[in-house]
Amino acid sequence: MKTIGLIGGMSWESTALYYRLINEMTARRLGGLHSAKILLYSVDFEEVERLQRAGDWEQCGVLLADAACRLERGGADFLVICTNTMHKVEARIREACALPLLHIADATADALLAAGVRKTALLGTVYTMTQAFYKDRLTARGLEVLTPEAADREMVNGVIYNELCRGVVSPASRERYRAVIEDLARRGAEGVILGCTEIGMLISPEDVSLPVFDTTRIHAERAALLALE
Ligand code: GLU
Repeated sequence: MKTIGLIGGMSWESTALYYRLINEMTARRLGGLHSAKILLYSVDFEEVERLQRAGDWEQCGVLLADAACRLERGGADFLVICTNTMHKVEARIREACALPLLHIADATADALLAAGVRKTALLGTVYTMTQAFYKDRLTARGLEVLTPEAADREMVNGVIYNELCRGVVSPASRERYRAVIEDLARRGAEGVILGCTEIGMLISPEDVSLPVFDTTRIHAERAALLALE
């Protein structure tokens, strides 16, 4: 069994989900008392979020590259960045560290294509919804990506940082998210990517009419399976 290196803490609420999902998948596959071999480097998210807001992606890259190197020295076999947004600095991490990296958007694209979805809604942080680093990775696989209107993007982003990353799960925010997802369904989306690792805390498949692709679950389960290959 390979050792999974998690770069986590963004936020710790979703990293806790990764830990559970990876171990659950490992136990399902191997039975008995089996659990995953995991190294976790968990950052201080306040530091990261301030750098994001300041647009200092260079320093974000330095921080996460340092985390990756620590995991490599600790004996991890491959890396998992437990956030969609911070894949923006994936190239910086790959430069600093030779370990293979399981990209969250690649795993997600695989899941959408396997389900026959071509046109997908994408919810996430403003960075993920509007910047090329994430959307281009999906469109390169032949997917068409729909995002909410600007005001809705701000709402979705605000709920992530002000509520979900602080462990707050609000029924009112769930209703607002549902309305945004149903609007994207009317615009032709055939599925919705929960493209932020905390959104699964708020939205379950039964909440919406579209098939749900939860990046946390997809990424964590792929990591567990990769460790067993
Ligand atoms: N966990 C979130 C994501 O998947 C947002 C937190 C962050 O900015 O990394 O994008």
